[in-house]
Amino acid sequence: MMSLTIEARDHASRARAGALHTAHGDVRTPAFVPLATKATVKGLLPVEVAALGYEMVLGNTFHLLLNPGPELIERFGGMGRFMGWEGPIVTDSGGFQVFSMGHGTVAEEIKSRPSRGTRSSAVGWAGRAGSDREGAILAIEEEGVRFRSYVDGRERFLSPEGSMGMQAALGSDLALVFDECTPFHVDREYTARSTERTHRWLERCLRWHAQHGPREQLVYGIVQGGVWEDLRRESAQTIAESGCEGVAIGGSLGAEKAQMYEVVGYATEELMGDHEGKPRHLLGIGEVDDLIKGVELGIDTFDCAMPTRLGRHGTALIPDPENRWRVDLTKGRWRESDEPLLEGCECPTCAGGFSRAYLSYLARAGELTGARLLSTHNLAFLARLMADLRQGILDGELKSVAGAWRAGEFAPKR
Ligand SMILES: [Zn+2]
Repeated sequence: MMSLTIEARDHASRARAGALHTAHGDVRTPAFVPLATKATVKGLLPVEVAALGYEMVLGNTFHLLLNPGPELIERFGGMGRFMGWEGPIVTDSGGFQVFSMGHGTVAEEIKSRPSRGTRSSAVGWAGRAGSDREGAILAIEEEGVRFRSYVDGRERFLSPEGSMGMQAALGSDLALVFDECTPFHVDREYTARSTERTHRWLERCLRWHAQHGPREQLVYGIVQGGVWEDLRRESAQTIAESGCEGVAIGGSLGAEKAQMYEVVGYATEELMGDHEGKPRHLLGIGEVDDLIKGVELGIDTFDCAMPTRLGRHGTALIPDPENRWRVDLTKGRWRESDEPLLEGCECPTCAGGFSRAYLSYLARAGELTGARLLSTHNLAFLARLMADLRQGILDGELKSVAGAWRAGEFAPKR
C-alpha cells in the first residue's frame, strides 16, 4: 500500500491534501507536527495535544538516546506507550543535534542571527529543538560521529545503523535517516561532499532497516544540498529513487525567505511525476507564512519548536502579519489589558476567557500555567491554519484561504 493517498490537488500550485497511512493511524495532510523532542510535548498532556486536532508528534533520537536510553523505552513498549501517546510518531535521526555540536555555530546562529541555519533553514524563530552546546563533537568519520554527551560527559558514538537501531527501539511509525545537516556558512565544495556522504549513509540506513527494522516503520530519506540548485535537485532525485517511503527536506535553505522558497521548490519539483506518491516533510519550519508557502510548494508535513517555545517565553501567535503573527505578552502594554487573547479562537485558553492582563502576569511571573495556556493556544492556532489550508485544497479554494491568512484575517470556524 502507498504511504500517502492524495485526495485533492490545487490547480494553481503544487499543493495537495491527503492522508498519510501509518501503523498507528492516518494523519490528514497537510499537517503541522508538534515536537515531543524528549517524549513530551512540553507542558501538555497527550490527550490535550490530540484534542487540538493533532494526529502525530515528533520525537528525537539524539536526546532520547542519551536520556533515558533505548533499553528503558523499549522495555516500556516504545516511545508511544512510554509517554501515553496513542497516535503516529515520527522520529528525527539525531543527525542535526550531533552536527550542531560540531558545526558549533548553529545554536548561536539561531540566537544571535535569526536568519541563519537550523535543521532546515532558519528564517527567524524556525528551528529544531535542542542543539546542546555543552556536548562536543570529537570526530566525524565515514563510519559515524563520535561525541561527548551533554548528559554525563561520556564519549558516545552515533552511526547510521545506530540511529536506525535507536528509532527501532523507539518504535516510531516514521524514521528519518541519519544525515549531516550542512550549516549555512560552508562552501559549495563542503556541501557537495557532505551531501554525498549523506547519500552513502542513506544506503546504510536502508540496508540496516531492511534486515532489522520494524516492518511497519516507514523510512524517510533527507534531501540536503544547501542552497545550490543542482545539488538540491540531484539530492532529491537520489532520495526519491532510493527506496525510501518518504522524503524529508533539511539543511540550510538560505539566508532569507525568498531563497528558502526557491530551494524547497527545487526539491519538490524533482519529486513530481513518478515520485508524487511519496510523502514530503519539511524539517524545522513552522512560521505561519512559511507553512502557507510550503503547502503551496507541495509539502505534506512540517515540524518546528516555535509554537511551544514561544509559548514558554510569553509570546502568543495571532493573525498579525505585520508583527510576524506574534504578540509578546511580557510587554508592559498588556499589564492591565482586558482584551481577550484572540477573539474567535476556540482553543481552551481563549475559551477560558482569560484576559491579556492575566496571561501577561503569568508569563512575567514565570508561572507554569502561563506556559501551558500559551503553548496550547499557539498549537491550536497552527492546527487551525493547517485545517483551513487543507479544507481550502479540498474545496478548490486554496488561493482565497491562503490570501485571507496572509492578510491577517481570522474568523470563527464556519
Ligand atoms: Zn486561542
